[in-house]
Amino acid sequence: MLIIMKKGSTPDETARVSDAVRALGREPERVVVAGRDAIAALGGGAPLDAGRFEAMSGVHHVVPLAPPYRLAAREARPAGTVIRVGGSTIGGGSLFVVAGPCAVESEEQIVATARLMKHAGANALRGGAYKPRSSPYSFQGLGPEGLKLLVRAREASGLPIVSEAVDDASLDLVAEHADVVQIGARNMHNGALLKRAGRLRKPVLLKRGIAASLDDLLMAAEYILDQGNGDVVLCERGIRTFSQHSRFTLDLSLVPAAQAASHLPIFVDPSHAVGRRDRVAPMARAAVAAGADGVIFEVHPDPDEALSDGRQALQPQEAAELITQLREIAAVLGRKTEVAR
Ligand code: PEP
Ligand code: MN
Repeated sequence: MLIIMKKGSTPDETARVSDAVRALGREPERVVVAGRDAIAALGGGAPLDAGRFEAMSGVHHVVPLAPPYRLAAREARPAGTVIRVGGSTIGGGSLFVVAGPCAVESEEQIVATARLMKHAGANALRGGAYKPRSSPYSFQGLGPEGLKLLVRAREASGLPIVSEAVDDASLDLVAEHADVVQIGARNMHNGALLKRAGRLRKPVLLKRGIAASLDDLLMAAEYILDQGNGDVVLCERGIRTFSQHSRFTLDLSLVPAAQAASHLPIFVDPSHAVGRRDRVAPMARAAVAAGADGVIFEVHPDPDEALSDGRQALQPQEAAELITQLREIAAVLGRKTEVAR
């Protein structure tokens, strides 16, 4: 980073900043920038905390020369992260489609959905056994029983499973049963849970918090990568804005921005963003057109009877048509569209 001193700062103040840089294992180099004294903190290692220097006496401002994340940065893996899940690939130009209900409700519901989505060409089945709901009075998921039903659905359909963990206990159980562990928008800032997910040997689908910037999301991913788990998939799921026509605002501009900043694949969840069945397909198609590595959306065999998020769940037939369209859009863009059968 470049630490720019105030005009009129004293040699003592400059020396204290240089000492602080040296104490952090960096070589301070004195330079002049637009007529001001400045200190460049050179050398590798973990990114320095700009705020610490900004608070020092005599400092005007600090210019970071590198992003605050290292392992998630595109330069760390220029070719891009590629992850195998079931018989399919995430990243590397493939399109990965995850479809399934918001929550696992019964064996009949999850097995039927799994079979239909396999037939429709999905790459994985989603289904929450632990549901972080906005209201404590809403259905909270079947817990361990839900995970057992997901395993049965995988056996019946051959589709790998994506399921969310909400705390330490559920993280271990979900990792034991599912193929991909989802960390939801509400837990994106939960550093302790992210670290624990970093010690898993399972891919992690990390959703963007509703008020998180791209840097915030990549710093959350950094927690997981730093613990040794490199298989992280980012997911845009809508952010809070002043718009009233949509539950959240799907920020598709995150897709190319994340791909430029990071080597991690990025998915889009249109269902939780728009919150309405009739808006899901248009935004899913737009996500693939924008270059998303995957799409995750909700589908239910009987949306009107769903125990959670029924109003945003597609009917199985709508879901099948959407998956076909997504593959067609991907093909136009020269993406790989083969499906493991
Ligand atoms: C979900 O995928 O079921 C979910 C709760 O999503 P989010 O964390 O994005 O709200
Ligand atoms: Mn849901």
